[in-house]
Amino acid sequence: MLIYKFGGSSVKNAEGIRNISEIIYNQKNKLVVVISALGCTTNALEQLVKLTWDKLPGFERAFEKIKKFHFDLLKELDGKEKRPEVEKRLSLYFHELEFLMKGKPGNDFDRYYDQIVSQGELWSTTIVHAYLEGLGVASKWVDAREMIFTDDHFRSARVHWEKTEEAVKKRLNFSDARVYITQGFIGRTKNNLSTTLGREGSDFTAAILGNILETEKVVIWKDVPGVLNGDPKAMPDPVLLPEITYQEAIELAYFGARVIHPKTIKPLQNKKIPLFVKSFYQPQGGGTSIKEENKPVEKTPTFIFKEKQLLISISPWDFSFVIDQSLGSIFTLLNKHKVKVNLIQNSAISISVCVDENDRKLPGLLADLKNNYKTYYNKDVRLITVRHYTEEAIQRVMMGDEVLIEQRTRSTVHFVVRKRAKF
Ligand code: ASP
Ligand code: MG
Repeated sequence: MLIYKFGGSSVKNAEGIRNISEIIYNQKNKLVVVISALGCTTNALEQLVKLTWDKLPGFERAFEKIKKFHFDLLKELDGKEKRPEVEKRLSLYFHELEFLMKGKPGNDFDRYYDQIVSQGELWSTTIVHAYLEGLGVASKWVDAREMIFTDDHFRSARVHWEKTEEAVKKRLNFSDARVYITQGFIGRTKNNLSTTLGREGSDFTAAILGNILETEKVVIWKDVPGVLNGDPKAMPDPVLLPEITYQEAIELAYFGARVIHPKTIKPLQNKKIPLFVKSFYQPQGGGTSIKEENKPVEKTPTFIFKEKQLLISISPWDFSFVIDQSLGSIFTLLNKHKVKVNLIQNSAISISVCVDENDRKLPGLLADLKNNYKTYYNKDVRLITVRHYTEEAIQRVMMGDEVLIEQRTRSTVHFVVRKRAKF
C-alpha cells in the first residue's frame, strides 16, 4: 500500500491533471492519493477572505474568477467523466461558499479563514476523482474532514491522533476500493468546523495517513527532481540530494527549505516509513529517498534562503540583563501574538529575534514590545542557512551582504543579512 501526494503545481492545469492521472493509473497497488488545491487556488482564496474581512470591493470579480477557473479546467479536461454530475457538485460547493461569504464573518479571523480556504481541496479532488473515473480507475472520493480530527487552533490546527486513527482505519480499509482520493491540508473540529493544518500542509496529511496506515512508503510528487541543495528559484544549478536521513530532512524543512512541510517527517520517522520526493515530470527518475539508515553520503553544502524577515532587537530600558529578567515575558508576548521565531540571539542586555514579516500579527507584537522594552527592527532582511558549510560555500552566498547576525554550529551556519545576495 502506498501514499501519493500531489501538490498544487502538479494540478495547475488540464495537462497537469492528465499527467498525474497517468501516474496514478500506472500504479497497480493499493493507493491513497492526497491532493492539494489546484495551482494557486489557496492564495486566491486567501485574497478572497481578505476582501470580505476587510470589507474591500472586488469580491464578486475575485469569486467568479476562481469559479470560472475550476469550471473551465473541467471542460478542458474533457475526459470520459460524467461532467454534468461533477458540475452539479462543484456548483453546490461554490453556492455554499458564496452564501457563507455574503454572510457575517464573525469575529475570529482565523476561524473564518479556515471555513473558506479549506474549500480549494474539495474542488480539486472532486475534479481529479471524476477524471480518474473516466479513465477507468475505480476510486473512492473521501472527505478528509471525516478522518482528520483536530483542535480549534485554526490555520495551524493540531491533530487529535486517537480519534483520527480510528476514523482513518475505518474509512480507508480498502474493502470498498483499491484507490482512495482525499484532500490534503484540511481537517475538522469536534464541532464540525473546518480547519487547516498550516500552509503547504498537504504533505503533513500524507504523513498522518502514512503513519496510521503503516504504508510501505509515501511519495511526494513535485515539480523539482527531488530535494535539492538549494531552491532553483534562488540559485543556479542546485544539485539533487539522492539520499538524506529523516534528521537532515527535518533540519532542512525547519530552516525553511520549502520542499517538504516541516511537520511531515516525524510521523513517518516514528514508524520508519520511507519518504520519497520525486518529480511528476519524470516519474521514472530516482528522486530523493528520506529514511533512517541512509548510507553515509558525502555531505553536500545545502543552502536555504528565507526572505521577508523582520529582525527585532529588544532590550530592557533599565539595562538589566535580558536573560535574568525579561526572557520569559518576551516569549510570552511572542506566544500571545502567535509569532514563530526563526532565529534568536542574545547579548548581555539585548535579545534579537528573526521572524517572518506578517501584516496582521506583527503590529500588535511590536506595540506590546515597545510598551515594555526598547525595541528596534530591521525590515526585509534575509535569513540564510548553510548546512554542511565550507568557507567556499559561504563565500558563494554572501557576496558582500551586510551581516547583521552570524551564528555557527559544527554543521550549520545562519546569517541574517541586509541586501539581496545575487549569484
Ligand atoms: N493548498 C494548500 C496550500 O497551498 C495546502 C498545500 O498545498 O499543501 O497551502
Ligand atoms: Mg498549494
